[in-house]
Amino acid sequence: MSHPDLIRQLENTIENIADFPKPGIQFKDITPIFLNPKLYEDVIEDLANFSRGKVDAVCGIESRGYLFGIAIAVALQVPFILIRKKGKLPPPFVAQKYDLEYGSSEIEMRTGQIKPGQRILVHDDLLATGGTTEAAARLVEKQGAIVSQFSFLIALKALNGDQRLQPFNAEIYSLLNY
Ligand code: AMP
Repeated sequence: MSHPDLIRQLENTIENIADFPKPGIQFKDITPIFLNPKLYEDVIEDLANFSRGKVDAVCGIESRGYLFGIAIAVALQVPFILIRKKGKLPPPFVAQKYDLEYGSSEIEMRTGQIKPGQRILVHDDLLATGGTTEAAARLVEKQGAIVSQFSFLIALKALNGDQRLQPFNAEIYSLLNY
């Protein structure tokens, strides 16, 4: 499928749900993509093409970052490392706190699964404010690896998440921009 056709088909497939989970949020429901294996395959090919030959491993953010992240890593034949919410991983792990709209959260990664000096793709399904992705990138840097790329299925441009990722000096790609 051509790139414009892929974008058009995704736009027709992803559902926008207004005021979920809170008033004012335009929730992007990506689950209909998984009803169409060919479309899913084309998404993985597009995201994998962005990173081919440029990364040594892929880190995906719980939980929707796994839906595409693992398949990207398999397509690239590189390791996949899970970034999980606090309390899910056995030790040893490294942790990073980050601020949410109200309060804060924390993510963790098993120690030693990424190696110092490796070029890492940090992947999530959707870039909103960038807070989650920024915290994930800090976890990568804490272990001496290099964040060389960020990729997303969707970026919500109005929230300027990409500005928050500028300090990492990494390439940023999103297949769809709203
Ligand atoms: P943020 O840290 O603000 O960039 O939020 C990114 C995370 O929140 C991603 O893992 C998304 O899955 C989820 N998310 C944020 N906003 C939306 C939205 N409008 N629709 C669907 N998921 C969202």
